[in-house]
Amino acid sequence: MAWGGGWGGGPGMGGGGHGHPGATGTTGLPFGGIPQELMDGVRRIVSAEPTHEPKDLPFTQLPSADEARRLTLVRMVRSHSSLFVLATILVTAIAAASQAGPALVGYAIDHGMRPGHGSLRTVAICAALYLGTAGGAVLFQRWQASVTGRLASRVMYDLRVRVFTHFQRLSLSFFTDEKAGVLMSRMTSDIENLQQLLQDGLSQFAIQGLTMVIITIALFSTNVTLALWTVLLVVPVLFVLTVWFHLNSEKGYLRARDAIADVLSDLSESLYGIRVVTANNRQRHNIVHHRNVVGAYRNANMYTGEIMSVYGPSTIGIGILSQALLLGLGGHMVLRGELSLGGLTLFILYLNRFFQPIQLLVQQYNLLQQGRSSITRLRELLETRPDVDESPTATTLPPITGRLTFDDVSFGYDPERLVLAHVSLDIAPGESVAFVGPTGAGKSTLAKLATRFYDPTAGRVLVDGIDLRDVTLHSLRSQLGVVPQEPFLFSGTVRQNLRFGRPAATDAEVDEAVDVVGLRELIDRLPEGLDTVVHERGQTLSAGERQLLALARAFLARPRVLVLDEATSSLDLRSETVIERALDRMLEGRTAILIAHRLTTAQRADRIVVVDQGGVTEVGSHHELVAAGGAYAAMYRAWIESGGRDAGR
Ligand code: ATP
Repeated sequence: MAWGGGWGGGPGMGGGGHGHPGATGTTGLPFGGIPQELMDGVRRIVSAEPTHEPKDLPFTQLPSADEARRLTLVRMVRSHSSLFVLATILVTAIAAASQAGPALVGYAIDHGMRPGHGSLRTVAICAALYLGTAGGAVLFQRWQASVTGRLASRVMYDLRVRVFTHFQRLSLSFFTDEKAGVLMSRMTSDIENLQQLLQDGLSQFAIQGLTMVIITIALFSTNVTLALWTVLLVVPVLFVLTVWFHLNSEKGYLRARDAIADVLSDLSESLYGIRVVTANNRQRHNIVHHRNVVGAYRNANMYTGEIMSVYGPSTIGIGILSQALLLGLGGHMVLRGELSLGGLTLFILYLNRFFQPIQLLVQQYNLLQQGRSSITRLRELLETRPDVDESPTATTLPPITGRLTFDDVSFGYDPERLVLAHVSLDIAPGESVAFVGPTGAGKSTLAKLATRFYDPTAGRVLVDGIDLRDVTLHSLRSQLGVVPQEPFLFSGTVRQNLRFGRPAATDAEVDEAVDVVGLRELIDRLPEGLDTVVHERGQTLSAGERQLLALARAFLARPRVLVLDEATSSLDLRSETVIERALDRMLEGRTAILIAHRLTTAQRADRIVVVDQGGVTEVGSHHELVAAGGAYAAMYRAWIESGGRDAGR
């Protein structure tokens, strides 16, 4: 993820626009200023740069009326109507200017080259006009390419932002169910297909279509009989061939479309899991699998290629055949005085051109098909409603004290298979509760319901007595903090990562968070302290360090309710002590749910909740549960017997 002028909003980040020569950044290299001798050059470059006004982009969970409209090519283009109108005018001008040639040749032959009545003037005028119209067509084409290029770029910009915004609205379940690679292919190959279609495809279609109309008119106005012969001979054969091509190529495109999505998702999975792949010696297996996936894509493309290889040359064949027929038929008519020599030349020249658009259309047909299926898939994506959606009547959640209530909650990821059944639990404001229990019991699921990543299948989850479904997601999440088991760090500086939940936090507040969670030692060790760049997903930091950064991030966001999924990976004793101390500070005065994998963490909570077999089986303080002699007491005994650390899972 690139930071650009994006979400951190911190000093030195440019705020969305491009930097200006006087800017001094507080991140990165120390800025010594621009040398005087370079200043003129810099000013020149900057003045030529297009301005990117920082746009105020409001984000609402519910799409605006514009965003909710069905995605169609026409709608996308219509929002840039002036460019579209200009492109249409230019396309018409190109088609007309490029087809003037044969008519001028025919006129020049009949009126300027008649034996005994030749007129050099007529020939010269026709030649000059030919040159003029051909030159005009070239100029119009140059202009049209620039206009459609601009139109395509703008439409694609709108579409990319729209799809990305839609991703931000979708629920966790969507991203769990869909493969990341498939989603990436929506943003890459699908959008690129459309870009190509808009940039070259549609204008070519329009130009070639218009050309065919102009040529047909020209043929009929020259000689109806010959034109009828031509049309009757050529059109039916072409029609049958085209229907055959359409049916078969459609099959090929569908196959290719599915195959490329598989290629991308296999690629992204392999790259994402490269450590596991290497550690398990799965390289060969992965290559074999990828070869199969890529092979399916190759086969699909080869199939489409085969279809094209029949259609393309067949149309050329029909073209040549009809020219030969025309020469015979037309020549006969000339000899009988029913057609002028210029008329026959015009016919032969136009017929040649009649097939050019068909050839081009076949080449562009690929683009049209791909563009059409891309639109369909993007439309399906944009019409996917989030499972966890905001009700149109949702209100803003007022500042909460932090009482959390599970009221007879049942839930299943698949509604047929319940993971939790009839769970009722009340967590008082400021109370910390640890969820313990066997793996897969439903601890994380309970936490996901508390943060409304999912909605219960039955029952209610309430915060301060208000059903989570009755408030806006933004107002709810701004008062909740979540520290996931595997904290995610974005590429950017440590400071930007810490400010993620509250971009407006001051430097002093960032420093405080660093001290509170005990990150100071790490920060001092980093080459540029808080301004050190961490790489994507924080791979350059240790698991414990990432956990501490996530804690500091949550601390800085100051949530009223904190949900913390403890890392399962074993940390060394020192890191554990640091994290436990950080936790104590974090929990002060906040309602907290701790999904505890270590019993030392569970003991820090005010109450312990044992989750097992889809329900809450024990609730009480550490001492109460040990005294009660149930499942928790057994877990605790096993832990003590094994030395007291790490055995509590
Ligand atoms: P752990 O201690 O291993 O983290 P947990 O108690 O937190 O386990 P959950 O993650 O809540 O367990 O999972 C509860 C059950 O729900 C498990 O059987 C799991 O397989 C299932 N489950 C979890 N996430 C999904 C999902 N997205 N889709 C379908 N089933 C899921």
